Amino acid sequence: MGLNFEIVARDRATRARAGRLHTPHGVVETPTFMPVGTAGTVKGMTQEHLEQLGVQMLLANTYHLYLRPGHEIIRELGGLHRFMAWPHPILTDSGGFQVMSLKGLGRVTEDGVYFRSHLDGSLHFFSPEKAVEVQLALGADIIMTFDECVEYPASHETLLRATKLTGRWARRAKEFYETRNAKLEMQNSKRISDDGFRASALASGPQSPVPSPALFGIVQGGTDQALRRQSVEEIVGIGFEGYALGGFSVGEPKTEMYETVAYTADQLPEDRPRYLMGVGTPEDLGECVARGVDLFDCVMPTRNARNACVFTSQGKLIVKNARYATDEKPLDPQCECFVCRRYTRSYLRHLFLAGEILAGILATYHNLYFYLDSVRRMRQAIVFGNFERNYSRVRAGL
Ligand SMILES: [Zn+2]
Repeated sequence: MGLNFEIVARDRATRARAGRLHTPHGVVETPTFMPVGTAGTVKGMTQEHLEQLGVQMLLANTYHLYLRPGHEIIRELGGLHRFMAWPHPILTDSGGFQVMSLKGLGRVTEDGVYFRSHLDGSLHFFSPEKAVEVQLALGADIIMTFDECVEYPASHETLLRATKLTGRWARRAKEFYETRNAKLEMQNSKRISDDGFRASALASGPQSPVPSPALFGIVQGGTDQALRRQSVEEIVGIGFEGYALGGFSVGEPKTEMYETVAYTADQLPEDRPRYLMGVGTPEDLGECVARGVDLFDCVMPTRNARNACVFTSQGKLIVKNARYATDEKPLDPQCECFVCRRYTRSYLRHLFLAGEILAGILATYHNLYFYLDSVRRMRQAIVFGNFERNYSRVRAGL
């Protein structure tokens, strides 16, 4: 187990906790929100922007990087951190979600998934082993097992089948990962004994042994509590460095999502990080931090921004709306980001209507600031022991 996770504070009234996750590329203070850098870039943001925003860990999509530029090219160039000039923590997904959401382009079998590239229609195959192999080539700090995520609503039979398959795939991924690690360790120790003291001089070069990424398991089971419990037992039984709650935000009502998140998080090991995949709105983040989740990712702040929808302390704002044509207020008067300090709603609206590149950049920066700032405040509140009071006020709209 190479991933050290310490819990530094717990809220007394809720399940919220603040932690520190030590990864090979730095410490991540949790709870945290990971912006989605689909193809090795958070659309519209430079890496300098992301650093300014205080992004601690990025999510990159295995499926997209596998198809373009290709994981072998990234491996040759020294891994994703070097390739995209991001020396901070990265988490890669397994590609499962993308592969399975390619409607009509994929076919699930016991062995893995056959799918066609959305770029050129070429045929590909991903298995639990292949997903780990591709992610090891990318070299993220945290990698995920390959799972089957089903949409809501799904029949009990479908959910049961997908949950069981996810369990079998998780076991195969873990076995493959351990075999690969053992091989790498042997190669590394052989290299060191062959080279003697010269090995230490080489340790800083691109060929030096890099710490193995931490492998996270994914719990499925839809909104069926019995299935969630079985999935937790099975995945935790196999044993991973962290656990993801998969299969949420796929169309289920909010109340069911919150209940199932709470139920599932409660059964996961207390001392391991919990990652809620693909969720959600700013409200979802608060609700799920209160239920014991540590890591989040979602395309919402970045995708919505490009569609002129921004999140503010007063709710969502559709910048293109005619009512903002002469509005000289910032996007969010309570926000301290550089966009809100400098630009007006009327200017942003004009940029969107004129199809200017700057529109998406500014809106994305603001939305990410809003998300990251809210999560930072939540963490601070947990540490200072006033999470529940602050959070209830936010919920009541005060
Ligand atoms: Zn702002």
